[in-house]
Amino acid sequence: MSAVMITRKVRKWEKLPGKNTFCCDGRVMMARQKGVFYLTLFLIIGTCSLFFAFECPYLAVHLSPAIPVFAVLLFLFVMAMLLRTSFSDPGVLPRALPEEATFIEMEIEAANGNVPAGQRPPPRIRNVQINNQIVKLKYCYTCKIFRPPRASHCSICDNCVDRFDHHCPWVGNCVGKRNYRYFYLFTLSLSLLTIYIFTFDIVHVVMRKYQTHRCIVWPASPETGFTVLEVLVCFFTLWSVVGLTGFHTYLISLNQTTNEDIKGSWSGKNRVQNPYSHKNIIKNCCEVLCGPTYPSVLDRRGLMQDISPVSATSATLSSSSSVNPVPQTTKTTAPLIPNEHTPDDAKPNIAASVQASPSPKEEHPSASKLPPLASPETDVETSIAKDKTH
Ligand SMILES: [Zn+2]
Ligand SMILES: [Zn+2]
Repeated sequence: MSAVMITRKVRKWEKLPGKNTFCCDGRVMMARQKGVFYLTLFLIIGTCSLFFAFECPYLAVHLSPAIPVFAVLLFLFVMAMLLRTSFSDPGVLPRALPEEATFIEMEIEAANGNVPAGQRPPPRIRNVQINNQIVKLKYCYTCKIFRPPRASHCSICDNCVDRFDHHCPWVGNCVGKRNYRYFYLFTLSLSLLTIYIFTFDIVHVVMRKYQTHRCIVWPASPETGFTVLEVLVCFFTLWSVVGLTGFHTYLISLNQTTNEDIKGSWSGKNRVQNPYSHKNIIKNCCEVLCGPTYPSVLDRRGLMQDISPVSATSATLSSSSSVNPVPQTTKTTAPLIPNEHTPDDAKPNIAASVQASPSPKEEHPSASKLPPLASPETDVETSIAKDKTH
């Protein structure tokens, strides 16, 4: 019986560890649990639909046509900010490769020395100085990295996230360095939309009452029933969303994250002040809301080689197109095999390392003539590496 290893090109998001889910060939990235996110969509779209259907026609005729127009614009902005927060990479940090993790472990062991049996090893911490404050970098045992300042490991997504704020089930994603400002704009605009709909619901009810000269008792008509439903949804949403927006406005003015606030990282204990604060509310707000945007470091749609075992039958079919054995890699930052994205000066070294790697069989002497990854998709079998077990 023979086990045949097939090498194929895959997108890197297909091999990323962690508990994220991906759609649209890696363009959309979310947490795995999305139930509450669908509830958020249902509440926003449902309430706005009722408002557009039952209040807007009346208000446009009796008050101003600008009322529904502004409501539509605000609704579209809320949805855009929500989807931008939910579908983007919050700032996930790639995990260490096995060889990088081994190197870091060796470094730590060398620094700590031999720990006598029965004694706890010292905590894995590195100190860095930021604005004259000592900040501790903690080691993540899952990602095998020393986390950058302000990063934390999200237990739900199972990834380290840069400038981690919190995991928000309402948006179905982590909130971190890359999507925090969109999250804040979402809560701010949702607060405005909720206040707007709530106000004009009340206006609608009052105008109807004085127009018909009768007291409205629910459910006097289906229309009135929907209006009361909207008022109730908006009333209960108002407190939580406006409260959340106020809390994040406070955090932004201090250049602080929710995670740091909960942990009391800069509460003044041990004389540690927030080294990221400019001690100026305007400067802090500008940095958080108007600072540079950061590219994703995951390279989710980049290509990599994947080796997977297949049955001998299917291998026979595909072996006619075999050429090169290629070692497996899970590296997320750069492909081991030279391709069109590889810098020219890196190609000789990479090719040399591929040549030097052990090849199970010598019947493919053209290992150095690796094919470029020109075809973008996972169309299988540019090469076969095989491992025969008898
Ligand atoms: Zn981690
Ligand atoms: Zn998360």
